[in-house]
Parts: sequence; C-alpha cells; structure tokens
Amino acid sequence: MSVLVVGSLALDTVETPFGSREEVLGGSATYFSMAASYFSPIQLVGVVGADFPERHVQLLKNRRVDLAGLTKADGRTFRWRGRYCDQMNEAQTLDTELNVFEQFNPVLPSAFRDAPFVFLGNIDPDLQSRVLDQIDHRKLVAADTMNFWINRKGEALRKTLERVDLLFVNDTEARALSGESSTVRAARQILRMGPRVVVIKRGEYGVMLLDKHGFFSIPAYPTAEVRDPTGAGDSFAGGFMGFLARVGEVTPATLRQATAIGTVLASFTVEGFSLERLIDVTASQVAERFERLRRMTDLQPFAKDMALFQEESFRLLEG
Ligand code: AMP
Repeated sequence: MSVLVVGSLALDTVETPFGSREEVLGGSATYFSMAASYFSPIQLVGVVGADFPERHVQLLKNRRVDLAGLTKADGRTFRWRGRYCDQMNEAQTLDTELNVFEQFNPVLPSAFRDAPFVFLGNIDPDLQSRVLDQIDHRKLVAADTMNFWINRKGEALRKTLERVDLLFVNDTEARALSGESSTVRAARQILRMGPRVVVIKRGEYGVMLLDKHGFFSIPAYPTAEVRDPTGAGDSFAGGFMGFLARVGEVTPATLRQATAIGTVLASFTVEGFSLERLIDVTASQVAERFERLRRMTDLQPFAKDMALFQEESFRLLEG
C-alpha cells in the first residue's frame, strides 16, 4: 500500500559541534519520503521554489517517489536555519523562511485521493487540514508538528488533531501542546484531543508509544556517530509509516515493530548531515540494526517462584 505525505521540502543551513552545511537538502517531506521509500510507494505533496536544484528532485525520483503532487512555484524555496549545541537532542531554530509555503494551496492529483496511509508532515496546520479535506478513504492518518506551529497556529492545529489517528511529537512539543509538565500526562492529554495513538520522541532517550492498549517504549539505537540530528523525527516517521503501509495492518504488534523500524531509520540519518547517510542505507543494514535493537530490549520474565530473592532481605523488610 502507498503512503501519501505532505510536508516541507527545504534548503537547510545547519550547524552542529561536528561541522556545518549551507543550503543542503532538508524538509519534513524529504526525510520522510527517503526513509519510507525503503518499504512502500510514496506520493508526495509539496512545493518548491524556482531555485530548488534539479538534482534534489532527481534524488526523490530515483527512489520512485511519485512527484505528481509537487508544485514548482515562482519564488524562493522554504528555508530553515538551525543549530545544535552540546545538547544534541534539540534544535535551536535560528531562522525560518516560509517563502513559497506562504501562498501554497495543496491540490491533490486524483490518483492520490484514496491513499490508505497519510502522513501530514510538519507544515502549517491549515495546509494539513486542506489535504485531509481531499482524501476519500484512509486507514491511518498520522501527523507531526513542532513548536513553531504550536505557538503560532494553536487553534488550527487543534482542529487538525481532531481528524488525526496518530500524532508524532517530541517531548518538549508534547508539553507545550498539552500544558502538562509530565510526559506521560501530556501524552494522555493529547489522546483526548483526537489521536488514538501518540508517539513521543525523546531524542537519544528513545521513543514511547501510548494508546488504549497501553504503553510501549524503546531506546534510541545506540550509534556513537551522531553528527547532525536534523531529520531524525521525520526519518523515524517515514520508517514507521512505510513499514505499516508495507504490512498493511495496524495492530498493537505492528505498531511496536514500526516503532523499532523508525528508530533504526533515524539512527542512520543522524550519522551524517542532510540525507548523506540515509540515501545509501541497505536493506540488510536496516535488518541488522532492527535485530540488534530487538535483542537489546529483550527481557526474560522475573522468576515466579521468588527464588531469586535472598532470604535475609525479606527478614530485613519484615522485621
Ligand atoms: P526533524 O529534525 O525531523 O524534526 O525535522 C527537520 C526538518 O524540518 C528540517 O529539514 C527543516 O527543513 C524542517 N522544518 C523546520 N522547521 C519547519 C517548519 N516550521 N515548517 C516546516 N518544516 C520545517
């Protein structure tokens, strides 16, 4: 099954303790599509300016991303400028230039309208809603957002959330959105806003998933080579949604596997700037990291007969 994505295509300028890059390929839809394309066909809706390099378009085409919904508008491509300091978990946004996104009115090609899996990437929540207005049947609608929109377009975002099945957010955003200071409370509050599943991303500390079946959490894949965290969240979402579309079923078990696949895809993205590392990941590298993550988090049941306790520790407690 295919995944429809709407989101930003960007020229990013990024600085981390490991280097910097000027005007490299970025954007929520870009990272998402590259990660998801390992598993399923992608239909992309977005806009770029006249200055968007053709080689970036080609890169997406090479991954068989369907670009029938990509508009090339007069004007400048969306630009984002960010910095990561010692705290590599959170980007500091230095500048956001919406440019062609300011006038963008997404119109879905008719072939995109019955997409079973939909990802509303991080863009203006009004645009996210306009995309949903044009979709007929859907199995799962997921969305992402960030503080930029929570602060500027809170009302519109609430409306989008009412129509969304699954929300990806990082912990700071979850707190800002819900007004709750504990992550678990924030997640529960978000579940009252519309989504039936919430996935809270916590950078190197991993991710937690909450829904009516309960709670699931895994750590980030422990890579030692974190150079640029930009796009980690979107690559996570891409792996997650691409995998779900591939298996075609959303169950507690597939949601857990999708969480691990997303974690693995994100671990490749952060090892390089822009899409440098993500573009040449192989299927066997993904499978290998998935298996390592699975083994890393496997746990034997605690002995039922209590034989593992020392006798005297009970005596101390009891008396
Ligand atoms: P992530 O690190 O996965 O949360 O996403 C990083 C990407 O989001 C970057 O490549 C940026 O171009 C893009 N981005 C940053 N701010 C915005 C925004 N306000 N609207 C849309 N895309 C954004």
